[in-house]
Amino acid sequence: MKSRNAVKGMVYLVGAGPGDPGLLTCKGLECIRHSDVLVYDRLVSDVLLKQAPKDAELIYVGKLPDRHMLKQEEINNLLAAKAKEGKVITRLKGGDPFVFGRGGEEAQLLKKQGVPFEIVPGVTSALAVPAYAGIPATHRGVTSLFTVITGHEDPEKLESAINWSNLAHNQGTLIFLMGMKNLPLITKKLLNEGMAADTPAAIIEKGTGARQRTLKGTLDDLALRADQEGYTNPAVIVIGKVVALREELQWFEKKPLFGKRIVVSRAREQASVFAAKLAALGAEVVEFPAIKIVEPLDYELFDRALSALASYQWIIFTSENGVKSFFNRLRDSGKDIRSMARAKICAIGPQTERVLLQYGLKADYVPSEYRAEAIIELLRDEIKTKDRILLPRADLSRSVLPEALSALGAYVDNVTAYRTVFGDGDIPMLRKLLENNEVDMITFTSSSTVRNLLKMLLPGSPEKTVDQTAVRKLFQQVALAAIGPITATTARDYGLEIALEAAEYTIDGLVEAIVGYYEQREEK
Ligand code: SAH
Repeated sequence: MKSRNAVKGMVYLVGAGPGDPGLLTCKGLECIRHSDVLVYDRLVSDVLLKQAPKDAELIYVGKLPDRHMLKQEEINNLLAAKAKEGKVITRLKGGDPFVFGRGGEEAQLLKKQGVPFEIVPGVTSALAVPAYAGIPATHRGVTSLFTVITGHEDPEKLESAINWSNLAHNQGTLIFLMGMKNLPLITKKLLNEGMAADTPAAIIEKGTGARQRTLKGTLDDLALRADQEGYTNPAVIVIGKVVALREELQWFEKKPLFGKRIVVSRAREQASVFAAKLAALGAEVVEFPAIKIVEPLDYELFDRALSALASYQWIIFTSENGVKSFFNRLRDSGKDIRSMARAKICAIGPQTERVLLQYGLKADYVPSEYRAEAIIELLRDEIKTKDRILLPRADLSRSVLPEALSALGAYVDNVTAYRTVFGDGDIPMLRKLLENNEVDMITFTSSSTVRNLLKMLLPGSPEKTVDQTAVRKLFQQVALAAIGPITATTARDYGLEIALEAAEYTIDGLVEAIVGYYEQREEK
């Protein structure tokens, strides 16, 4: 791959896959991550666009309510012009660029204009969407060929480029893209050409995502049933014996979180592990970072504590961010863990404990319940009067812990190690999803995610007096999930109704609670 800003421009025509962002190729991801300009159209996942460098130019060339799609010619000219400026351009196209994607035409024009290009094939919806419905394109002993056909063409057209008689008789799987409008004509034509009326057939709508729907029928009833059940584009139509294998091979739609669109509101840097776990269970994840972790405004108190580290009997870490900020600052001030050899270390929970281990420190104490109150219970008899305790925490942390520790007779230095500010969640995007009832669940992994998400969605809402009617309306169809009782209480204080709370206050605990919540609802 050429480095960014190479003198000569370059266009990568990249297949973005059928929707599930995980179906982008490694090479495609490399292209996105190294481009100056990203040109994309509809059906390209947001998750992929977020992979572009921060300063990359993103150009949407698909349909907008107030504008028709850019004409193919205009797109071609745009690509050529940007390339001539010496830019590296990634042209992202749904599925595979060379399968009904007009990628060939774009490449031809680039060639004509002397602009270098490369093709990065993608996973085509023609194969991936049926696969996500448990329908293989070929299967030993069932069929050994398949045809991918545009359904865009009117089958009654006199000079058809499609040999319908061959399609009806070649014993292969027929896969139609862009075929929903002509579906009745397509099935009628195949029947007229003599294809068996009971040939299994299926439609998979919005494949590979949370809104995937599959209709199974036969060649003669498919069109009518699709109409009755309101199936529309984007959809893949599959006709052939392989469709029957779905009974046995169906997998995606059976995943525990299939069909659920779940919002993850934690900081971007921390969201990926959680998001990956939900996605692995079949959920479609929408990342909406409501918080962002930044440095304190003033390091004075923190630095004073770090310079006197040897004087503390205790250091209590109440979050992963606390640990990371602590060690970053320790390193920046030219010290290392030897300066805290004397202190006993307490971590609030297993994740904080794990992160401490990454820095070479084993926590001496981890309470069985991951909250400030449990730390007090655990340490009540361990902490001596006049012990010095360092608490490196967020700026807006609750006062429960320092107050209770002071009450035990200890000296507590509660220093701000980091601040929690608004994240860069895409507000119009989330608002639109909520208004269209396209969100199933929002997860809150800390009180700050609750506060900030509400303030971002309902600007002008002062602390604790959020407009209850507006909140209720916004979250009408949405289940709200909290990682633990503190987060849940914060949410309830705002008038939110919490649908589920994790039994163990960790990401794994929350994932488990989410799965349990949907299992229970299914049983009802
Ligand atoms: N180049 C693309 C196809 C572009 S034509 C590819 O290789 O996949 C657009 C058609 O693709 C749609 O009309 C629909 O038939 C199909 N399609 C694309 N994404 C889809 C999805 N997620 N679910 C169902 N059909 C999809």
